[in-house]
Amino acid sequence: MAASLLVLGILGALAATMATITAVLVKWAAKARTRSSAAVVLFLLGMMIAMLGGALLYFLHPGSTGLVEGLWLASGAMSLTVFPVVLTFLKDAQARLEQKEAYRPRALRSPALFALAILGLVVLNEFLMGWTFQLAAGSLVPSDASSPLSVLTLGVDSPWFILPMAIEMGLSVYFLRQFLPRSLCRLLWLQAALMALSPPAFGVGPAVVPVTVAGSAGMIVLIIYVMELIYRDRQLDPGIYRYLPALLAIYALMMAGVYLWLVYGNGLAFALSVLLEMVLFFEAVVRPEQFSEEGGVSWLLEPRWTFGLLAAIFVGEVFMGAALEVVLQPALFPSRIANLALSGSPETVLYRTFYNGFWFLATVTGSTWFLGMMGIEMGALVVFKLRETRSLETRVRLALLLGSYGAFAVFFPSTYYPAVFPHAPSGTAVPFLGWNMGLGSGPVAPGVFSAILLTYVISGVLVVLFGRRAICSVFCTAPLMFQGTTLDAMKGFNRSSPLARRYLSSRLSGLYTVTAGIVLVSLAAGSVLSYLDQVGRLQVTFLGADPGVFLYGLYFSVVWYLLFVSIPYAGNYNCVTMGWCYTGLIAGAFSRVGFFSLRVKDREVCRRCTTLDCAKGCPVGLVDMPGHFRRTGVFRSSKCCGVGDCVESCPYGNLYLHDVRHWVRARLRPFRARSRRDLPMVAPRPGPSSAPPLREGAVYRSTRVTGNDVAAGSGNP
Ligand code: SF4
Ligand code: SF4
Repeated sequence: MAASLLVLGILGALAATMATITAVLVKWAAKARTRSSAAVVLFLLGMMIAMLGGALLYFLHPGSTGLVEGLWLASGAMSLTVFPVVLTFLKDAQARLEQKEAYRPRALRSPALFALAILGLVVLNEFLMGWTFQLAAGSLVPSDASSPLSVLTLGVDSPWFILPMAIEMGLSVYFLRQFLPRSLCRLLWLQAALMALSPPAFGVGPAVVPVTVAGSAGMIVLIIYVMELIYRDRQLDPGIYRYLPALLAIYALMMAGVYLWLVYGNGLAFALSVLLEMVLFFEAVVRPEQFSEEGGVSWLLEPRWTFGLLAAIFVGEVFMGAALEVVLQPALFPSRIANLALSGSPETVLYRTFYNGFWFLATVTGSTWFLGMMGIEMGALVVFKLRETRSLETRVRLALLLGSYGAFAVFFPSTYYPAVFPHAPSGTAVPFLGWNMGLGSGPVAPGVFSAILLTYVISGVLVVLFGRRAICSVFCTAPLMFQGTTLDAMKGFNRSSPLARRYLSSRLSGLYTVTAGIVLVSLAAGSVLSYLDQVGRLQVTFLGADPGVFLYGLYFSVVWYLLFVSIPYAGNYNCVTMGWCYTGLIAGAFSRVGFFSLRVKDREVCRRCTTLDCAKGCPVGLVDMPGHFRRTGVFRSSKCCGVGDCVESCPYGNLYLHDVRHWVRARLRPFRARSRRDLPMVAPRPGPSSAPPLREGAVYRSTRVTGNDVAAGSGNP
């Protein structure tokens, strides 16, 4: 035992030393500008590879023959690599003699080719080290490598590969930090840390839970950082613009690799992702000049880029959520995943593939850990937005939104209900009365009729009093995802995307009406079928599930996320703008008869306003609101979900959200005339230079809310 620990200690120290040497060589490679300096780096890396190759040969064929073969290989390879270096130095010496004072070292002919060679040698070096040290430590035997793919997988998915690699990455960034942009440096640090937290490297022992959780936490930090980075830098440096999608695509593959390794014991996808990440990483540090290119790219004008970024993040999240479920709920999660055997006729295989894929996605996106991760990432962006928000009312709403998500998406369904009501009907969640999104949250059994009815009554009352925002900007999980800084910035796509443009304004277009019609009819049909199933009159299922529950999964666990990723094409808040969410449609219908509306303090200000910033700030694309303000001072739309960005955007602080509180205050005003306080209104933000000067007194004059105002607000102008 003591002897094997000693061997492990010696091997560990050796691996750390080699990793440090490699990092130093990477630093030299990044700084190499002449042929002779490049040749030295290539030679030294070649030497390391030769030594490792020799050692590997010995461990593959232990004994005197293997030792001789290994020594031959090492010395033969070293001798071969020394020739080009000596030749380069001789040529340089000759040039120095001939040119004397005018001598200049010969510049690298092709820096890109040199970087490629360095990448190849570093990867090969690391790979050989992984194999050699595993054989030396006795964690592998030569016969384990039965095919080239198993060689690749076993060589990479081991601590002897991953940990030296993490050290190399960390040291390389440290050595080259002055040459790299700060934002890239931070990303590279995170990458090095994440490399050290690779679950397949540690096997399925006791380390798998802490390593998977810590790795996921690191990934969450990285995603938040990337999202905030692109929010702050709307004009991205070309190097970062290229780097981010590639990095996130590799991480998506890596997360899929972790999941496949956990569930099927296959580490090939993970190994491939590690190699790809190495290439991306070392390409960035060896060629730092690519990050100082002139110019910038506005990613908000690049829907394809943004879509790629969101899609990569989403795929990564899905597999990361699934991996967390597997390690943290091992008794529960795998049994909930649909796993039909892919055999039979081509149609059967196709159907089963679709079935498995659909339920995998629906199960994961509805699972606690996925929602928890999304909550932390998107919630962090909402917190950043909260810091930028001046309106107290919007700040309070954002805080409520964060609290609602934590309570209703994570705490109640995953902790409270299972502990307190272990036998609650399936689909039970809050709000309201357990029916989080109304119909479809569970099968429509006769016993839950009153709960369903009360759910809609409570939703309806809240919407009538406070507007659609009670659901679509507080209780639903969607607004957390839409309203963080970066996602909010994507509302620009509502105007630039040809598809999203068709849903602009408060007008209910033909397309909107058709979509809403299909959704509502499907909901009604699904609910009736579900009821008939429950009372034993029919036996209808869709993809093996209750019809109502299937629709719920389809709309909220599959379509919602697909359209979320498609924001660059479908626009932000597309569940609202396109009318495909039945809960939102019902809330919108209630909002038409409620107290909620948008009002301006002074119509004259809007008539003279040339910025129309309120319309530009609207995440739902209600571009026609200024016209209503100019005509009547009031705007009401069933699509308005009271986000309040318009209030924030108005440069004159002329706009406020009106609801039942204002109505009550207006009624009470005669009784408290002397102590009247102004209604909650946002202070005007410093106006843009294009904002016209206003009449004295026009900006801050608060509107006296009268009964006539309330009456005017009840009809859509
Ligand atoms: S429309 Fe539906 S999914 Fe979108 S915010 Fe409203 S309730 Fe949520
Ligand atoms: S930005 Fe302000 S002043 Fe201009 S139209 Fe909108 S609410 Fe009126």
